[in-house]
Amino acid sequence: MLSQRTIRNKITASGVGLHSGKRVNLTFHPAEPNTGVVFRMIDGDKKTEIPAILAHVGDTTLSTSLEKDGYKISTIEHLLSALAGTGVDNCIIDCDGPEIPIMDGSSTQFVFLIQSAGIIEQAAAKKFIYVTKSVQVNRGDAVARIKPYDGFRVTFTLEFDHPVYKKYPQSASIDFSQTSFIREVSRARTFGLMKDLDTLKKNNLALGANLNNAIGIGEEDIENEGGLRFSDEFVKHKILDAIGDLYLLGHNLIGEFFGFKTGHALNYELLKKIESENAYKIIEIDEIKDAPINYLKPISEEVA
Ligand SMILES: [Zn+2]
Repeated sequence: MLSQRTIRNKITASGVGLHSGKRVNLTFHPAEPNTGVVFRMIDGDKKTEIPAILAHVGDTTLSTSLEKDGYKISTIEHLLSALAGTGVDNCIIDCDGPEIPIMDGSSTQFVFLIQSAGIIEQAAAKKFIYVTKSVQVNRGDAVARIKPYDGFRVTFTLEFDHPVYKKYPQSASIDFSQTSFIREVSRARTFGLMKDLDTLKKNNLALGANLNNAIGIGEEDIENEGGLRFSDEFVKHKILDAIGDLYLLGHNLIGEFFGFKTGHALNYELLKKIESENAYKIIEIDEIKDAPINYLKPISEEVA
């Protein structure tokens, strides 16, 4: 049996929001089985819980956000991706501001925090979202699709008509029974054109963005001193984003995601369609024949 997971100890972190530029403090708490991921907004003595599920998704323009009772928490996707990638089912995260800190623009610092807190198995069977039929959404030529697959695979293709993007691979397909999320995906940073950054800042967005938390793309090359972490870092970041968005279904997924030029808004449309078309069942791993045991092994057998 695969068990549900939470963190062993409470752990805190702080950082600046990418869009707001505001400092936010986070405290991760262990949580009981079947809690899921819950953000708890701290406003003086008042605490408002916002479960990280589809029903609470708000704005998805530049990042994915949750909203409830007048509170909003945005840019949740990199943190959700870290929780999904480490298989943490249950965690309560206190936040004292409206945006999850951008950290280094990837999920790696959240993964480090989760690993530092320790991951423990709980006395309850882990549940999965088991995709039972294909569902697709389109916007212009962008596509987001999910289909049944015995494991977890994410395939993504970008198509940026820009000389710098064209120097690097714009397509990747990752099967997580063969490839480590932590090693190959969690370190991929968010990115953007330097010229777009000025426009965003004029519109009071990306106020916290700089070359320490994003890849800046100039006219001719990457502007970050150390260059890229992987040659396909852009597309790997889109895979990281998709994994975070998919975790809003409430459990790790058994299925395949395919994205062509999709982003948070279209990913959200896909999630809504997956729910409305009932394209999955919630299962425990023992319920399926030929269970994809290579994807999320018991912690004792895992090598990060
Ligand atoms: Zn992202």
